[in-house]
Amino acid sequence: ERFDEIDLGEGLMQNIRRCKYSKPTPVQKHAIPIAVAGRDLMACAQTGSGKTAAFCFPIISTILKNGLNSGPGGTRTVAQPSALILSPTRELSCQIHEEAKKFAFKTGVRIVVAYGGASIQQQVSVHQSPFYCLLPLLVLLVNSVVHAHGHFAAFVWWHIQGSDVGLRLFNSVSFFFYGICCVVQLYNLEKGVDILVATPGRLADMIDRGRVSLKMIKHLALDEADRMLDMGFEPQIRKIVQQMGMPPPGQRQTMLFSATFPDEIQRLASDFLKDYIFLSV
Ligand code: AMP
Repeated sequence: ERFDEIDLGEGLMQNIRRCKYSKPTPVQKHAIPIAVAGRDLMACAQTGSGKTAAFCFPIISTILKNGLNSGPGGTRTVAQPSALILSPTRELSCQIHEEAKKFAFKTGVRIVVAYGGASIQQQVSVHQSPFYCLLPLLVLLVNSVVHAHGHFAAFVWWHIQGSDVGLRLFNSVSFFFYGICCVVQLYNLEKGVDILVATPGRLADMIDRGRVSLKMIKHLALDEADRMLDMGFEPQIRKIVQQMGMPPPGQRQTMLFSATFPDEIQRLASDFLKDYIFLSV
């Protein structure tokens, strides 16, 4: 009846307390232990049932236990997430992204939402590292202020040292730091992403352009699967899953959430899920 009865790890537990979730909703109570154990899952869940946390908690918890995505390990311009959450609309994807960021607060787990025309790299930089974007600007600002007072600074240093070597030294050092900031920012972008939230249409497009690689996906969550099929996303979903390759059994976990279970959903489940537990609460 309580979240701390499930072993989710301390970082995530702190964030759950911060979100003021005192006890799990029915779908969370049943789905989270199954998913944390690594099993595949098909769950009946309506909007408002708390399903976002039901698939985010196990994903974040497992990523933290297995270690963060340390790098793309190969092609430098391609992001390689270890978890993928598919949802039918841009609005829902953004909502999931916002919730997931709260759950992953200060854990180091990087979550990115892909939508619209912006590249995933741009979206990583906007969502993940405002500090490193601002730092080089700050250094430049200090530098130009010093330049504006250059005559004064040079005068002071002239009196101290008999030359303007101090001002030159300051300039060299600050440009050196500016360079370091740029490198750190680049490194941060290339460190990649742990969880990608996307709509099937947008993601299929990104795969075509080689902007994202799904080779490292260990967790796949399909949210509102019935709505995605109603919107005609079945070919894109199949293409996306195909991109992940066929890992040996037990290597990838799939969680499918849906409000209704028509034949097409059953077919999707039997194609994508292995030895799964069906949950109806
Ligand atoms: P969802 O069904 O995932 O869209 O969640 C619906 C709303 O319920 C969201 O605003 C969540 O923040 C909230 N919620 C989810 N799980 C819990 C919980 N265990 N305790 C309190 N609120 C929750």
